[in-house]
Formats: sequence, C-alpha cells, structure tokens
Amino acid sequence: MTNEKIKRIGVFTSGGDAPGMNAAIRAVVRTGIYYQKEVFGIMRGYEGMIEGDIVKLGARSVGNIIQRGGTILKTARSKEFRTKEGRLKAYNNLKKEGIDALVAIGGDGSFTGLHYLTEEFGIPAVCIPGTIDNDLTGTDYTIGYDTATNTAVEAIDKIRDTALSHNRLFFIEVMGRNSGYIAVNSGIAGGAAAIIIPEETMSFENLMTLLTAGEGSSKKSNLIVVAEGSKIGGATELAKKVAERSDYFDIKVTVLGHLQRGGSPTYFDRVLASKLGVAAVEGILKGQTDVMVGIRNSKIVYNSFDSIINHVHEIDQESLRIAKILSI
Ligand code: ATP
Repeated sequence: MTNEKIKRIGVFTSGGDAPGMNAAIRAVVRTGIYYQKEVFGIMRGYEGMIEGDIVKLGARSVGNIIQRGGTILKTARSKEFRTKEGRLKAYNNLKKEGIDALVAIGGDGSFTGLHYLTEEFGIPAVCIPGTIDNDLTGTDYTIGYDTATNTAVEAIDKIRDTALSHNRLFFIEVMGRNSGYIAVNSGIAGGAAAIIIPEETMSFENLMTLLTAGEGSSKKSNLIVVAEGSKIGGATELAKKVAERSDYFDIKVTVLGHLQRGGSPTYFDRVLASKLGVAAVEGILKGQTDVMVGIRNSKIVYNSFDSIINHVHEIDQESLRIAKILSI
C-alpha cells in the first residue's frame, strides 16, 4: 500500500484515558512503519500539539505496552484547542515536524477537535474510538469498554459476598454520564436486582415498589447498579432517599469511580485496539479522512464525522429486557 503524499503520521490520545489505548498506539506505530512511513507520538493530546511536544516513535519504542492500561502518550483536555488560534498553533507545530496525517484515539470531543483541524487545514485524519463509555455510534464497541465492564463485574461480585453476609442493600455506582452500557452489562453479569441508567426513566417510585416487594419475602440484601448519569440520582442520593422512606434496609453505597479506567486491558480490548489501529493507518493511506474507524458486526467500517457526532449510540433494548426478566 503506497501513498507517496503521506510520509509522516502523528498519533495521539485525547480526552479520558481507556484501557487498550496503548495497544492502539502500538498498532498505529507498527502499521505505519510496516508501510514505510515515519510515526510521531504527540504527547498529552491537543495540549502537546499546541506546545510542540512531539516525539519520534519506532517499532521497539512501543514494545511491552500492549498489556498496560493508561496511555504512554498521556492524555489531556485542552481549552485552547477549542479556539481557532489554538488550532493554528497546533497545525504549525505539525507542519514544522513534517507530519502530514493524524490518528487520534479518543471520544467524541477528540473527534470534534480533529474534524475542525481537518476542515481548516486539510490535514488527513482518522479517529479511533477510545473511551470506556461505549457511547459512540458507528462502532459496536469502543476501546476500553470491555475492560471497564469486567472491572465493574469483579467489584460487584465482591460486594455481593459482603451484601449477602450482612443482609445489606447496596447501591453500586458505575461510570456512564450519558451512557448506560457499563451499568446494563455489568448489572446483568453481576446479577443486579435493578439497573438504573440515564437512557431509561425508571422513577424513584418504581424503585421503591421493587424494593418493598422484597420485604414480603424477607429479602433484605440486594444489589442495585446505578450509572453515574442516572436521572433519579446517583448511588449516594438514591440510598439517602430510600433510607428516608424505609428503615427496613441496611443500606450501603459503593462508587467505583476511576477504578474502572485502570488496569490491564482484556484480550477483547487488545484485539479490538489492534484491529482498529491497523485499519486507521490503512484507511488514511487509502485516502480516508474526517472519519472514525469502527467495527460493526465484526467488520471494519469508516463513518464520516457528520454521521457520528450528535448521534446517540442507543442502548440495546434486548439487554434491558433480559435484565428485567432476570431480576425477579
Ligand atoms: P471522553 O469520551 O473519554 O470524555 P472525549 O474525546 O469526548 O473523551 P473531551 O474532553 O470531550 O473528551 O474532548 C477532548 C478534547 O478535544 C478537548 O479537551 C478539546 O481540546 C477537544 N475538543 C472537544 N470539543 C471540541 C470542539 N468543539 N472544538 C474543538 N476542540 C474540541
């Protein structure tokens, strides 16, 4: 695959970190080198692009990272990049290094920034979905989501042991400000009695009905999984509200928080990141630009910025149905 116009590819991670980002960096670097291109790592996302913090990467410099969480290139959120002046500074640094194509690994914000850069300066760019939330349409899975969900399930299993021993009602909060993917699937896998997600409006009264139904059978221990973006309150708020209404339960709260971002990526995330990294570089060399590479029904797909941004990755209704049947 030759594309003489592209000689130097820049790769960076941006927005929230996600396990599997390193595997994606490794794939981008090695694929670039495989096609005789030079690859440069841009440190700290758009912040490093604006400051010119750019390093050359070789095939060996991405050795021993496939199994590591976080991102060796670091990540950041940059206010300055949201301005045209900031993006001009960033572009001038890319030009100085001779970088003529970009691969970003990040979420919808990172993709938006990249879209502006491509529009304003014509630099070819492909985005790889790297975010634990699985909130991007145009791909069945984002890098990091599988690992984060497995981490949540492991935590739920541990909480279940103590909940049962003490007959306690636990509210477990998982990540997901706008997306219930982690909550739904960790809830199903962890055997939760109820799953509360931003996309679905379970009322507080519905929750009370579900909990008090258990009183008749003397059921005191239960696990409720709550996505942080729940419309009826996070785990702490819900626990407080339930305690105000009933003293039947011994209620505890666990907020899993940043625990879900770290750790060694699962095999699934490593393979996904490897496939998407290869496809991102091959896509750029074949002329793809202003697109996100994704995987749909096990096939690599490229979707334009317009078809992804401001579209919601709908929660799978079948999963919600299954969760309800199994929580009786
Ligand atoms: P996550 O889903 O993990 O939050 P993200 O990529 O959506 O990841 P954001 O913080 O939303 O994370 O975006 C990352 C960076 O992308 C921002 O700090 C900013 O520099 C750039 N960015 C986001 N939105 C825009 C925009 N509208 N214009 C220009 N740049 C943007």
